[in-house]
This record gives sequence, C-alpha cells and structure tokens, in this order.
Amino acid sequence: MRLPTPCARLGQIPLAYQWCRRHLRAPTTLTPMSMSYDGTSMGLKHKELHKEQETTSSSASAAQAPKPQLSNFCRKCGGTISMRRPPSENELRHVCDACGYVDYYNPKLVVGCIVEHEGRILLCRRAIEPCKGLWTVPAGFLEMGESTAAGAARETWEEANARVEIMAPYAHWDIPVIGQGYLLFRARLAAPHSFSPGIESIETELFEPKDIPFDKVAFSSISTALRLYTSDLAEGHFHIHHGVIVKKAGAPPNDPAAFQLMDHFAIPTSISSRL
Ligand SMILES: [Zn+2]
Repeated sequence: MRLPTPCARLGQIPLAYQWCRRHLRAPTTLTPMSMSYDGTSMGLKHKELHKEQETTSSSASAAQAPKPQLSNFCRKCGGTISMRRPPSENELRHVCDACGYVDYYNPKLVVGCIVEHEGRILLCRRAIEPCKGLWTVPAGFLEMGESTAAGAARETWEEANARVEIMAPYAHWDIPVIGQGYLLFRARLAAPHSFSPGIESIETELFEPKDIPFDKVAFSSISTALRLYTSDLAEGHFHIHHGVIVKKAGAPPNDPAAFQLMDHFAIPTSISSRL
C-alpha cells in the first residue's frame, strides 16, 4: 500500500493518533511528543496553532458564539466528524461518524517566567509571528508529560538560552475568548547567569523595571503581568495574581486599549521583592 503524504499543516503527530483531523492525511512517520526542542518540534507546531487561534477566535465573544466545527475528520480512523451531543453530555462535541470517537477541544495552557537578575528583568524580542519584533517574557505552550514549572524553565531555555531557578508562581490568567490560560512564574537567572537569543528570539536583554518598553510588549497577558510585577517591585513585596483577560472583538493581541483585566485577585504573600 502506498503511504499517504504527511500533513503539511500539522506534520508530526503524537502516536495516539493516526490521521490528521483537518485534512484526512496520515503522516509517513509518527514521532512521540517527547522529542527534542528544535524548530521542528511539537512546541513550534503548537505555536503555529496559537497564532491561528489568536487570529481567528477574537472576532466574536466565545461565550455567545455558536460552537464552531474545528475539524472535519477523525484522527483515530479518518472517518468524517459531525457536531453531536454524546449521551450523558450537555455540550455539542466533535464525534466521529464511523467509530464514535469524541474529539475534545479544551483550552491550552501557556507557561513562562518573569526572570530577574540584579534588579533587572529578562525580555526577549520575538523572531516569529504573532507579534514578531515585539518584546515578551519567555513563555510557550505546556508540553504533554511536563509540569508547569518545568515547562516555564524549558521555554526560558529555548527562547533565551538562560537557565533559571523558579522562585514562586506569580500570575494566572484566563483568556476565554482564545481558549488559553497563562501561568507565569517568578524566577531568577541561575549560574552562569548567561543568556542569548534562542531560535524564536531576535534579541534578549535585561531591562530596568522603569525602562520596560510597554508600547512594544507583545500580548495582553504579558504586559498585564509585567505592569503588576513592576508595581509589586515598587511596593516592596509580591502578590500572587489571578484574573480574566477580556479582549475586544477583532483586536490584535498587543493592543493595550483592546482588553481589560476582570475579576482580578491580588493575594499578598510574605515574599519580599528582593530576590
Ligand atoms: Zn473515527
């Protein structure tokens, strides 16, 4: 039997699935998710999907929009997908017409670090879309089999070639309209205290809190966390923050006027702002 060509969009897929759920093509090679973190890894694939979600899902309120059909084919058997309500469930789901497999779409978690060194904060300038050319903290999608802290440290290594010591959780955001959660940790540079641009960064730099270029920071989640972080620094002790980021319909991810932090909890901790 002639093997079908790899799916151009998703490429490698986890071993649990045999078919691309969008294009009804199977890969010629199946690669487990615990692969190396180079430019061909699942991490980058996830980031491409992230870009797609940022672009497409902000056009309507997720709470009010009808549930869209996000795939056409079953990734188990290649059968067609219909939106149906399985027995004992209230929600419409992606259900395979052939084998009955229910393909769940759930929010994804982004993890990252606000890294401090000698009173300055490590930022990376993005080499890839979305928000190419803008500054951010090292962050990306959590991988399967990984703890949130390990994922945050890995992303810092990938994007800034920096080894870090995770100090404490700092901010948790929900962004329902794009189906994402964010968990950002406080961290400090570990010996040898070196950093340089990783494959997804053009530039890496330590900024004094007062010099953070907020007009050039990518993503509402990151600018919100950095503003609170600099405020906590000035106040002399840290909080743990939680909130919901509500975005304006159709707004770009870095538009400071296009989102609001709602339901913000700032829980005081006994942690000093001095690392
Ligand atoms: Zn199926």
